[in-house]
Amino acid sequence: MIKNYMEILVSNLLSEVIVNYDVCKCQNCLNDIKAIVLNNLSPMYFLSSVEKSEKTAFLLNRQNRISVLAKIVSALEIVKKNEHNSNNGRNCENNT
Ligand SMILES: [Zn+2]
Repeated sequence: MIKNYMEILVSNLLSEVIVNYDVCKCQNCLNDIKAIVLNNLSPMYFLSSVEKSEKTAFLLNRQNRISVLAKIVSALEIVKKNEHNSNNGRNCENNT
């Protein structure tokens, strides 16, 4: 199965920054944040011929990390605003 390296980068960065944010961290909210971010980014698939070092370089690339982080922060704000709001179709595990 091929991997979307943009998704891996988003997951890595999200787990780094989410601890600093006062947002719901249930699986549904985390998935919503990832979905919003990934809808705003081009997927990144590597051919089988690409070296592992090049994939690692993509994940560590400073410019990639900065632009993805900015998108994560705006997605966090969107999900935070919608938290526990049952009228918006979101499916938070903490909704009552
Ligand atoms: Zn939630």
